[in-house]
Amino acid sequence: MTTDTEQLQTPYFVIDEPILQRYYDMLVESLSSNWNNYLIGYSFKTNSLPWLVSYVKKRGAYAEVVSEDEYSLAKYMGYRNDEIIYNGPYKGQQSFCDVLLAGGVVNLDSMQEIRWLTNLVNLHPDKPFEVGIRANFNLEQMCPGETTMGEVSGRFGFCYETGKFAEALKILRSLSNVSVTGLHLHSSSKSRSVNIFRSIARMACQLKTEFDLNLKYVDLGGGYCGGMEGRPEYPDYFPVVAEELRECFTPEETMLIVEPGISLISKCTAFVTSVFDTRDIKGTRYVMTDGSRFNIDPTMIKSSHLFHVEYTTNYGESCADNDESGVSSRSVFGSAQNNCDSRPDISQQIISGFTCMEVDRLFTYKDQPELIPGDRIIYENVGGYTMSLNPLFIQYFPAVYVKNGDEMRMVRKKWTPAEYVQGSEWEM
Ligand SMILES: *Cc1c(COP(=O)(O)O)cnc(C)c1O
Repeated sequence: MTTDTEQLQTPYFVIDEPILQRYYDMLVESLSSNWNNYLIGYSFKTNSLPWLVSYVKKRGAYAEVVSEDEYSLAKYMGYRNDEIIYNGPYKGQQSFCDVLLAGGVVNLDSMQEIRWLTNLVNLHPDKPFEVGIRANFNLEQMCPGETTMGEVSGRFGFCYETGKFAEALKILRSLSNVSVTGLHLHSSSKSRSVNIFRSIARMACQLKTEFDLNLKYVDLGGGYCGGMEGRPEYPDYFPVVAEELRECFTPEETMLIVEPGISLISKCTAFVTSVFDTRDIKGTRYVMTDGSRFNIDPTMIKSSHLFHVEYTTNYGESCADNDESGVSSRSVFGSAQNNCDSRPDISQQIISGFTCMEVDRLFTYKDQPELIPGDRIIYENVGGYTMSLNPLFIQYFPAVYVKNGDEMRMVRKKWTPAEYVQGSEWEM
C-alpha cells in the first residue's frame, strides 16, 4: 500500500473505488426503484480484471460470459454454474451443458447450439430445461443512425425479420422438456441513448405478444452510458424501460436482466502516463510517452480523449515547487491551477506512445504549454475495452492500482517476462 502523493512508476491504470461504488449503487437503486425484480450480469469481456470481477461478485452480480475461456475464468473466480449468464456466438459445448444443467442463464445464439441442446435434453428426458433466445432485429429502423450495425444487419442471434427467430422457437417448442423462458436483446449502438433502450424494451413486448412467450426474464444486455458529460446515466434509462415493459410484463412474473460493462467502470478508471522524451523533426514536436494508444484505444477508433496534464515542477526556475506531490496540474478543460506560466505555448505537440509503430499517436496538443520529460498525461474514462484488450506488444501489461482516498493499492503487478513465458517451452 502506498499513498497517492508518492509518484508511482508509470504507466499504470488506476480505479477509483468510491466512484465505482457510486456507479454500482446508482445502478442498483435505479433498477430496484423501477423494476424490483432484476439481475445484474457483469460483462466480463469489457474488463475482466480479477479485482473488478470479485468486486461485482461480492455485490451479487452474475458473470456475463461470451466464451469458454471467460466461463472458465468465472469458475476460477468462484462463480457457480447457476451464477453464470452465458451469451455470444462462441460458447463451448461442455460449459454450455454444464450451465444449462445447473440452471444458469443460457441465451441461445445459433442452430448449432440448438443441436447441442437437443442432444443434452435427450440425455435427460425427465429433467426440465429453461433457455433464453437471442433475437436479432432491425433496431436501426427504430433508431435511425444510432446503431453500430447501421443499415446492414447485425450478426448475432436469430433474425426476427427473416423468420429465423420463429423457426428456432418452433424447434425449441417441439422439445418436450424445454421451455423458452428468456429473451436476450443485447444490441450495440453508437448513441447508447435512452431511445435505444426504449426500443429494445418495445421489441421485447412485440416478441412476447406475437409469439405468445411466457418469459421469466427479459435480458436487455449492455451498452449503457455512464460517466460521460451530457450523456444518459442509469437513472435515465430504467424509468423508460420499465414504462415500456409494463405494457406486457410485470415485475412479479418477469425479471429484468442487465449486462453492464463500460457504464460501470468507465468513470472510475484512469490511465497515468509520463513524458520521457520530446523531439523536433522537420518542424513537428513529438512528445514521447510511456503509454500507448494500444493501452487505451486498442481498436484504434477513438478520435479524441478525455485527459488532463500534470506538469512537473522541474521546468526552469519560475515553476516553483508549490505542490507536495511535485507536480502542478492544469486541466485542458479548465484553467491553470498553478504556476506553469514560464512555459511557452507550442502550437502543435503530437502526443505519441512508446511503441515502434507510427500509428501510435494519441492526440495533438494544440496551443498549450510545452511538455517536457516528467510531465504526466492522465487519460480519464478508460475502464472499458482497454485492460482486457491490451496486447503484449513491446511492453507487457501495465500495473493496475485501486485508489481509495489517499491510498493506492496495487491489484495487478506489471507483467514481466515471467508472466510472458508461462506455458512456453524452449531449449536453453
Ligand atoms: C459487450 C456486451 C455487453 C456489455 O457491453 P457494454 O457496452 O460494455 O456495456 C453486454 N452483453 C453482451 C451480450 C455483450 O456482447
